[in-house]
Amino acid sequence: MGDRRRSANGRHIGKQEGAPNSASPRQQRMKSQSAEPRPIRSICVYCGSSPGRNPAYLAAAAALGRFLAERGIGVVYGGAAIGLMGMVADAARAAGGEVIGVIPRALVDLEVAHTGLADLRIVTSMHERKALMAELSDGFIALPGGIGTLEELFEVWSWARLGLHSKPCGLLNVDGYFDSLRTLTDQMVTEGFLEPEYREMLVIEQQPNVLLDRLASYVPPGRWNGAELLATDDGSVGSST
Ligand code: AMP
Repeated sequence: MGDRRRSANGRHIGKQEGAPNSASPRQQRMKSQSAEPRPIRSICVYCGSSPGRNPAYLAAAAALGRFLAERGIGVVYGGAAIGLMGMVADAARAAGGEVIGVIPRALVDLEVAHTGLADLRIVTSMHERKALMAELSDGFIALPGGIGTLEELFEVWSWARLGLHSKPCGLLNVDGYFDSLRTLTDQMVTEGFLEPEYREMLVIEQQPNVLLDRLASYVPPGRWNGAELLATDDGSVGSST
């Protein structure tokens, strides 16, 4: 039998080798998948640990947190009380939403870990943080932020491109903050470093409700549909083949 492994927090995270027919676990899983969007129960939000200069960024963080809570969608984020990160969490909590923070011990003081969260998970490394945040979420949204935000976004988008998961990735383009990133991805396509279908895996919108509607109806390119995130108990992430 293809018993499913469980991660440290008890969620199923993949299938073991040794299923009774010759197809690999990934091939079996992909064959049995229909092109249905996955239900979105929680979203991982990546955003700046700073508030940024334009007040529109804080306003968008508050609007997204509130909006997710009103839709009954839990927020998973980096666990800080500061910057846009703190604003997303506070707005979601104020609207009655569920919020999970995930922060490495080394950053508890530096990023001012949020003391008001019912669920704050303190982990040992950045890799563990990212793997747990991804595992707990059904999709990803990036708000304006700095290099940490972009690193996190590019990791999940590139994992999606490699078929390591089938979860939607979105960008909330507040006041044109990500216009230059969109231009760069266009250039990746025209210069032959990124296929158009993989660029389209990153959903870019200006309004949270439009973005969320698109993520809720997202179906990855056929060959990746049904891929599962394979996070292991040590926090590493790998493919199922
Ligand atoms: P920033 O956008 O630079 O303000 O960072 C936003 C969040 O990303 C903060 O919680 C950072 O701790 C986190 N971060 C920064 N670098 C990394 C990294 N390499 N991997 C994971 N998270 C990171």
